[in-house]
Amino acid sequence: MLLIECPYCGARDESEFSCGGEAHIRRPLAENPISDAEFAEYLFWRDNPKGVFLERWCHDAGCRRWFNAARDTVSHEFIEIYPMGALPKTAAAKRAYDASWRRKTASEAAATSRKKEGKK
Ligand SMILES: [Zn+2]
Repeated sequence: MLLIECPYCGARDESEFSCGGEAHIRRPLAENPISDAEFAEYLFWRDNPKGVFLERWCHDAGCRRWFNAARDTVSHEFIEIYPMGALPKTAAAKRAYDASWRRKTASEAAATSRKKEGKK
């Protein structure tokens, strides 16, 4: 049994929670024209790292509130739990935040890759 520390209710059994997937994914803005391929990447591609991963969790069978968590996918240890809209504070979670290309909008990521290739 895994205990998860809900920031609002305290430690509860994992069966009361659901994971809503990867946290901090930047949504493409309507004013940013992106290709279908870039939109497909945003919609369907998710990181699946071995190690620290930033996730959104919901306490479904409790307060029904959402929160973010930095969790080690190997040990299942919750490294940090923090509110929605906040950024992680621990060093390991910050590294995980900075490591993912998904923190940029699809058009920003495309512009970065074009710069690396020497194109404008
Ligand atoms: Zn709760």
